[in-house]
Amino acid sequence: MEKDTLEKVVQLRKNLHQEPELSGKETKTAEKILSFFEPLKPDRTIAKLGGNGVVFHFKGDEAGPKTLFRAELDGLPIPEKGKSSHKSKFEGLSHTCGHDGHMAIIAGLGLYLSKNRPRKGEVVLLFQPAEETGEGAEKVLADKKFKELEFDYAFALHNLPGYDKNQIILKKGTFAAASKGMVVELTGNTSHAAHPEDGNSPAEAMSKMIVALQKLPDAMKHFSLITVVHAVLGEITFGTTPGKATIRATLRAFDNEVMEKLQDYAEKLMISIAKDYGLTIQVGYTEEFAATINDPEAWNFANEAAKKLKLKTKHIRIPFRWSEDFGQFSKVTKTLLFGIGSGKKHPQLHDGNYDFPDDILPTGLNLFTQIIEEIHQ
Ligand SMILES: [Zn+2]
Ligand SMILES: [Zn+2]
Repeated sequence: MEKDTLEKVVQLRKNLHQEPELSGKETKTAEKILSFFEPLKPDRTIAKLGGNGVVFHFKGDEAGPKTLFRAELDGLPIPEKGKSSHKSKFEGLSHTCGHDGHMAIIAGLGLYLSKNRPRKGEVVLLFQPAEETGEGAEKVLADKKFKELEFDYAFALHNLPGYDKNQIILKKGTFAAASKGMVVELTGNTSHAAHPEDGNSPAEAMSKMIVALQKLPDAMKHFSLITVVHAVLGEITFGTTPGKATIRATLRAFDNEVMEKLQDYAEKLMISIAKDYGLTIQVGYTEEFAATINDPEAWNFANEAAKKLKLKTKHIRIPFRWSEDFGQFSKVTKTLLFGIGSGKKHPQLHDGNYDFPDDILPTGLNLFTQIIEEIHQ
């Protein structure tokens, strides 16, 4: 990679890092990306996709496949603890998932493509909003301006602390789990705390539900996990028994069918416990992520590219338990999400001390470039 390219992407990365924006509010970040790409003269630019999303098209002269590369625009509501000179200027907000680095890599691809148009087909670079809340990919895919574009392949990477720097983490099939937030709302009846027998407190049912939810995956044949993340009961008043309760839990599974089953069982279980206690129940869902499934053909391009570049590759057998909303793209095209190690002892994602390591930028960029060479030259 040219030194000039590296300097530009590192500078962009640090600039993005200083001004992180929350999911759905990435207007300034999108503007920065748009102005970075302006001198690169893409063949087509579409902004405001599914919110603040932006895409850039680079076309070849001959007909051929259409390939998408994705980065994420959003930061997190986590205060940054580090003391770097490019530390977040926004109180309480940070780029602690490394999306600033992912954006810089895709911007680097833009620099490359501006000088080296694909020979055949088309390369599309997408900066997607709201990944952290699991809403962005779905909104982009549902956007009319995006819907007309059909892709043969879609690629994305995520940096992964806990792995050697620049190591490539690859897997065929499920790479990251499906997950969703379940919200269980119970309604009973309040009474004077001196006479609990006159009311119907959801306390006991709620306790049973918390235990039952977390135990439910034991009965499943395939991997699944339910983690209760939040629970509230009644109000803070010592004279009144509670009349309401809410439980929030995260459901996880390695494939979408197992997730459907898990949800169905969990819901039936909650309804039956609520019934036993004469409580009204409402079950809702939020932050839904589909499983990210790596297509063998897309996998092969990356595997070959990594070999050619002599990168250290780790082939994992078990999918990651976390989710990525890139899974939405797996539903519509051949996708590959792979990991790139950020260092064995690097602070974990979403840790206040996390900062994207710039020395993995060239690896990400070279690998994507090599994939483009394979598919489009
Ligand atoms: Zn994240
Ligand atoms: Zn992330």
